[in-house]
Amino acid sequence: MTGVAAPLIPDGRREALESIHRQLTSAEHIVLTTHVNADGDGAGSEAAAAAWLAARGVRVRIINPTPFPQPYLHLIEDRAWLLDPASTEGAAALRDADSVLVLDTGEPKRVGRVGNALAGKTVLVIDHHLPSQGGFDGLVLQDPTACATGELVYDLLTVAGLHRPWSARILESLYTAILTDTGGFRYSNTSPRTHLVAADLLAQGVDPEGVYRRVYATVSLSRIQLLRHALDSLKVDSELPITWMTIDRKTMEAVGATADDLDGIIEHARSVEGTEVAILFRETSDGSTKISLRSSGAVNVNAVARAFGGGGHEKASGALIGARMEDARPRVLEAVREAFRASSRG
Ligand code: 5GP
Ligand code: MN
Repeated sequence: MTGVAAPLIPDGRREALESIHRQLTSAEHIVLTTHVNADGDGAGSEAAAAAWLAARGVRVRIINPTPFPQPYLHLIEDRAWLLDPASTEGAAALRDADSVLVLDTGEPKRVGRVGNALAGKTVLVIDHHLPSQGGFDGLVLQDPTACATGELVYDLLTVAGLHRPWSARILESLYTAILTDTGGFRYSNTSPRTHLVAADLLAQGVDPEGVYRRVYATVSLSRIQLLRHALDSLKVDSELPITWMTIDRKTMEAVGATADDLDGIIEHARSVEGTEVAILFRETSDGSTKISLRSSGAVNVNAVARAFGGGGHEKASGALIGARMEDARPRVLEAVREAFRASSRG
């Protein structure tokens, strides 16, 4: 199929991508990383960038703070690219890297164990989250108007003049990134440009049904079991349109769940009729509390997440709170209730 043009790149974004591209062009060893518990956008953006760089003869490694997510492993052309930051090879690759490209976050604390190795490195950031205080120094592109980091990596490859059609792996990786971060082109971050980019990827050969089957139509047994527990825990506030679920670590262990199994579970709380804010509380393996927040109304859940040291987007944010569930949950619920009261005061 032909006849689909790549959409124009907004000016400020183009300039930042040109600088990042110049930096990448001069590097021989590049490490890619993303936030803890990479999602489809972080993983797909890494897979696409890695395939592109490797084809140009760059030595590329993907070193994430947590293991590369199983549901997206098929996007990785060569599994030897994946290294743990604490392994001998991983530490050496971080040490030898000319540049480190951080994808889908702009915050040092979100890259966890990888953060320590970045001191003194040329750090490049491509991300679509709202910038926060204490972000990386370096060449930083944080553009919250992009639906996904995958949209920005698409623009990077366009700026780079990559010969078309792009490889099947690059196309599927970028499509997966955009598909997952827009919730299948349903969330409010889905823009006209999202569809123009998707159209170009489809025109170049992405198989949408194949991607759908790999991403959504196959789930692990532990995820289904986790969902059962999550639904069992579902609570609805008696006064305000808030719905929440809680998963403790015993449940995670009992069903053998990993962080990948949690992705999307919050949508069930969000879908309860009348819900405007959905919350997933999860007890982490060290007894802290991870929250995920989603808004379908006027409440800015990013502000709530920031108050607990987290971040994200206005309608989808999260935070890792260094407190036990019984302390953290009432505080978060109260902060969300207060956000409702504040928004109704206008
Ligand atoms: P999720 O709730 O699916 O983990 O994440 C929703 C959004 O919030 C994503 O954009 C994610 O990057 C962001 N987010 C989740 N947890 C944290 C966190 O602990 N800190 C920050 N800054 N952002 C988070
Ligand atoms: Mn993203």
